[in-house]
Amino acid sequence: MYYDVVIVGGGPIGCFVARHIAEAGRKVLILEEHREIGVPPHCAGLVSPEVLSISGVGDDVILNEIRGANIYAYDGTKLSFLGERTYALVIDRVMFDKRLSVMAENSGAELLRDSRVIGFERNDNGVDVIFIRSGERSKVKTSLVIGADGAYSMVARSFNLPLPKEIVYGFQVEGILDCDNPYQVEVMVDNETSPGWFSWIIPISRDYARIGLGINVRGNPRNYLKMLCNKWEPLRYFKDLDIKKVMGGLIPLGLIEKSYTDNVMLVGDAALQLKPLSGGGLYLGLLAGIICSKVALESLDRGDFSSNMLSKYQKLWIKSVGKEIKLGLRLRKIFLGLNNKERSDLLKILDNQEAKSIILSTGNIDHPWRVAYKIMTHIKVPLIARMLSLAFS
Ligand SMILES: Cc1cc2nc3c(=O)[nH]c(=O)nc-3n(C[C@H](O)[C@H](O)[C@H](O)COP(=O)(O)OP(=O)(O)OC[C@H]3O[C@@H](n4cnc5c(N)ncnc54)[C@H](O)[C@@H]3O)c2cc1C
Repeated sequence: MYYDVVIVGGGPIGCFVARHIAEAGRKVLILEEHREIGVPPHCAGLVSPEVLSISGVGDDVILNEIRGANIYAYDGTKLSFLGERTYALVIDRVMFDKRLSVMAENSGAELLRDSRVIGFERNDNGVDVIFIRSGERSKVKTSLVIGADGAYSMVARSFNLPLPKEIVYGFQVEGILDCDNPYQVEVMVDNETSPGWFSWIIPISRDYARIGLGINVRGNPRNYLKMLCNKWEPLRYFKDLDIKKVMGGLIPLGLIEKSYTDNVMLVGDAALQLKPLSGGGLYLGLLAGIICSKVALESLDRGDFSSNMLSKYQKLWIKSVGKEIKLGLRLRKIFLGLNNKERSDLLKILDNQEAKSIILSTGNIDHPWRVAYKIMTHIKVPLIARMLSLAFS
């Protein structure tokens, strides 16, 4: 059986790309290893309203709206702000993924669940994709493989494309928790309880929330969660019994220098198209997905699947979302360069009217460097000067 394009991975970005290619009348197959789309979830589900408008997914996936945040340091120092507008939406990520898969199928893409891709063989006309479906080995032919198979992509590994230089392990539980203000997220920037990353509480309602953390070291994330509960005021009364759901996942970081080779492109997390400061991948993945599908259609029209032709994809997505990743990596360098005491001092420095109005007017979860840049250029204190030097060291 021949398909113009085979997409490995029925996650949100794979389904989004499949939809765009199938809408143009091309024969597309999505292979997804899990039996159910979106399950198991691996996301805090915090996105900008733009994610819904770009994806075309309806407002009914929205569970809550976020208008501010409380940011904590290791010693309890707290920076609090709450605005009038909606900065972020909390979504039902499973429903979001399912919607994208239905849209792909409605556009004519074929989606095979329970189908795990295990290898590829090059032939004279393209690639044979080998997969196990419900225990049986199968094979399809294609001109173009799109690896949308997430962090530590098997497509990237199979075709010797670069892998992430840094991976953060994210762990999250969902459960019953009294949220003082359901429109504010809580964030803790503490090297002890979330080394190399941060911890979060994302309220879904007044008494239900997603609680998570990331670590960039080896270790059992549950132990870090226990430590966090002992240390962090908003989690003081949170107990194991209140946990209703548990999930974990990888957050791959970096700027990939090559996301294509003959007959192959990578997209979404497989191409590290996510924000290095927060790990949010839906916004950048969708933007890059539009470019990926356009280049796929152009190469199908020309019958040219060479590395030379597909290099256009890399150039275009770097131009479009690469800047966000590069600036995000600089912000991450600053973040990692500050110790716990400096993070606490920074929150104290920002706890004033001028800084808060910059945060509220410029804050944008898709472009965190905008607010960082404004603060670093408006507030002149030695710690901020050190942050600037960290960014460019
Ligand atoms: C803890 C955590 C919290 C996060 N929070 C947010 C957030 O709040 N907001 C945000 O925007 N992003 C968030 N992200 C990132 C977001 O989840 C990803 O960026 C997004 O899922 C990327 O989509 P994708 O389609 O590229 O990859 P994925 O969603 O990972 O989908 C890849 C798909 O490929 C399938 N697959 C893998 N290998 C194979 C194979 N060999 N054969 C067939 N199928 C295969 C997988 O089963 C999966 O369905 C978070 C990530 C983590 C880990």
